[in-house]
Amino acid sequence: MDDSEARFEEMLKGLRKRNCRITPQRVALLRLLAVDEGHSSASHLYQQLKAQFPTTSLATVYKTLNLLKEMGEVVEIGFSDDDNRYDGNKPYPHPHLICVRCRKIMDPEVSIAQDLVQQVAQQSGYQIISHRLDFYGLCPDCREGE
Ligand SMILES: [Zn+2]
Ligand SMILES: [Zn+2]
Repeated sequence: MDDSEARFEEMLKGLRKRNCRITPQRVALLRLLAVDEGHSSASHLYQQLKAQFPTTSLATVYKTLNLLKEMGEVVEIGFSDDDNRYDGNKPYPHPHLICVRCRKIMDPEVSIAQDLVQQVAQQSGYQIISHRLDFYGLCPDCREGE
């Protein structure tokens, strides 16, 4: 079972545990969220779902996203000037690489975050609950077009 399949199963289990209705739309949404390197916005997820399920509404997508967020099964990456994006593949705080041109979001394969969190906690006396580390730049595809 690969990573995204495992995440899909976990999210589904989470919804079942809460006695949430498991509709085919919800199952399809979980599949989209579980994909590695997904980081889709709610409206993008909605567009993809609508192609398969014409009766799906954006409100339904938000409802499921908020539910999963509450359960700690998706990470929301909020922006002040752009749509929020969602990661169901890695449902814990992790660094993100954000392309300023095509708005692609990737998970860099680094593990500096944990050391950083410990250092910050030690120096500040804070109990760290969460953190956010974003790297902005041009992705390889966009750099090629330079
Ligand atoms: Zn790009
Ligand atoms: Zn991510």
